[in-house]
Formats: sequence, C-alpha cells, structure tokens
Amino acid sequence: MSATYTASHRRLEIASIATFLIGSGILAGRLLRYSGGAGWLIAAAIFLGLIAADFVSGFVHWMADTWGSVETPFFGEALVRPFREHHTDQLAITRHDFIETNGNNSLVSLPVLGAAFCIPLDHASGLFAAALLWSLVLWVFGTNQFHKWAHQKERPVLVRWLQRVHLILPPDHHALHHRTPFLQHYCITTGWLNVPLAATKFFRALEFVVHKSTGMVPREDDLATVAKANRRAA
Ligand SMILES: [Zn+2]
Ligand SMILES: [Zn+2]
Repeated sequence: MSATYTASHRRLEIASIATFLIGSGILAGRLLRYSGGAGWLIAAAIFLGLIAADFVSGFVHWMADTWGSVETPFFGEALVRPFREHHTDQLAITRHDFIETNGNNSLVSLPVLGAAFCIPLDHASGLFAAALLWSLVLWVFGTNQFHKWAHQKERPVLVRWLQRVHLILPPDHHALHHRTPFLQHYCITTGWLNVPLAATKFFRALEFVVHKSTGMVPREDDLATVAKANRRAA
C-alpha cells in the first residue's frame, strides 16, 4: 500500500462507495417507477452512458498522462500520481483491494449522481437524461475494476468471457497503451473508442492546441519519471 494512502482517505473512500451504491440503487428504483412504456429510451440511455464513460475514462487518463506532475496543485497527488505510478509499476493496481480500487471513482461520481436526482422524471427528456447520467456513473464506477482485471493474471471465468467478447477492457487491447511513450489506447472502460480516437488523431490534435496556446510539452514529466524508474531498475 502506498505511503500516501492514508487511513482518513480510506474512510472517505468507504463512505463514498456506500453513498454511491445506495444513491444509484435509489435512482434505479425511481427510473423503474417512471419508465413504463419507455424501456427503449432507458436502454438507449444505458448504451450511450457506456460510450460516454469510455470517453471520460480516456480523456481523464490522457490528461493525467500528458500534463502536469505530482507537484501540480490539487490534481497532482489525487490524479496525476496514480497514472504516473501505473506506468512504472503496472501491477500495483492488482494489489489494491475493492475499496482502494473503487473509492476515488465513487467519490467523483457523487456530484453527477446528485445532479441526476434533481432531474424531473415525468417527461421523456428528463427520464432519458437521468438514465444517461445514472448509466454514466455506473460505468465510471466499474472502470477502475475493469482496468484492474485487464492487468490481473487470475480472473473469474465470467470476467474472462466479458473481456473475450470485448464488453469490458480486454488485456491484450489495453497492453497497447503500456508501450512507451504511452501514446494511445487511453480509454479503459470498454476501450471501444480507442480505435476511432487513434484514427482521427483526436488526442494529438488536442496536444497541438494545448502546446501552441500554453507552451507546455506533452508527457514531459511522465517520460522523465519512467526513465528514472528504468535507471533505478537497471
Ligand atoms: Zn497511461
Ligand atoms: Zn493499465
């Protein structure tokens, strides 16, 4: 367990997971109550939520891999460090238990879940929007677990099957991300968007815009961290 993983943060993670599971369960009940005759609408929202979660996973991962350092105010410790460390020790995630794996994603999902509760459900548009947010946070909740399974040697049979049919992130697909200098396949929920985002050079275009407007160099700190870790290991 990392020295920066404190008992108070673990308590926060436990509270976040409990609140998230209870909240999403209550919201599921509300959606079910209002969904009479609109099953297709809910199904479409769930599917779009999955696509959106895959995009969010890729975007956040790209941000954390590409910009800033552990010293970056606010985001450095909470967001940048886990991704930097994952590049130098990709199996560390497999040593995290359920709480450490899923606590942070539960915490960041709570405001979105709260927003979904504020949407009136008596119109199709409200029902769709609330179901979309509910689906999004559920898949975001699953993302770190799917990522962990993509690195884990021993997996339950059902998980192996879900990976084989590519309903969740497959290990060989995710392995493409772990090739230095970590330039592709950032999406870690299902990974469905990795090929279209790579084909359209989506993240390279964003990096060009950020570099031109701020002067920041993509992956400057990440590559220095990886080189330092390799020198230590040699
Ligand atoms: Zn990465
Ligand atoms: Zn990984």
